[in-house]
Amino acid sequence: MVAADLLRARVLYLGAPEPKDVLLSSLPSCPKCQYEYTYEEGDQLVCPECDHRWSAVAEAEGEEELVVRDANGNVLADGDSVVLIKELKVKGAPSALKAGTKVRNIRLVDGDHNIDCKIDGFGAMALKSEFVKKA
Ligand SMILES: [Zn+2]
Repeated sequence: MVAADLLRARVLYLGAPEPKDVLLSSLPSCPKCQYEYTYEEGDQLVCPECDHRWSAVAEAEGEEELVVRDANGNVLADGDSVVLIKELKVKGAPSALKAGTKVRNIRLVDGDHNIDCKIDGFGAMALKSEFVKKA
C-alpha cells in the first residue's frame, strides 16, 4: 500500500460511522461505484466512497416486486390484456364469466386474487392469475 492509499483509507475511516456497525449491516452496495460499506442517514443510504446518496425506502420496495404468472407461466405486468381460460362464477352476478372473455388493462396486486381489473358488464373484479393467460 502506498502512502496515498493509506491517507485515503484514513479519510474514509474518519468519514464513516463505526466500522463494526457498517460491517454487521446488510446494506446494499453503492449503485454508482459498487462500494460495499455504505451507511444509513435517515431515510437515505450514503456511499462514503463517491458521496452518492439514494433512498433506502425505494431500495426496499424494489426488492418486493410482485411476480404474477398466468396459467402458462408467463409473467404478467400492469396494463396487460389477458383472456380467461375457464368459466368463472361471479358472486352476485346474473351470469358467469365465460372462458375466452378478454380482460384489458389488468393491475397486479398482492394476495390470493392477484389481478385487479374491470370487465364490461361486471365492473371491478379480482381474478386469480391461474385462470387467465396472456392475450
Ligand atoms: Zn459510491
